[in-house]
Amino acid sequence: MDYNIGDIVRTKKPHPCGSKLWEITRTGVDFKLKCQGCGHIIVMPREKALKSITKNITNPNN
Ligand SMILES: [Zn+2]
Repeated sequence: MDYNIGDIVRTKKPHPCGSKLWEITRTGVDFKLKCQGCGHIIVMPREKALKSITKNITNPNN
């Protein structure tokens, strides 16, 4: 799966605010994700991000 800046993705576990949707604001060794529910930004290693993302809403065929 390939991800681009600005893609909206869904994760397995929801953020504490209840949203499962995140916008990718940075890719590379680390992924930066912005919660679409509350705007909170998290950074996680690429491998962990790839495991927790279940669907790319912006590009479902990626
Ligand atoms: Zn949130």
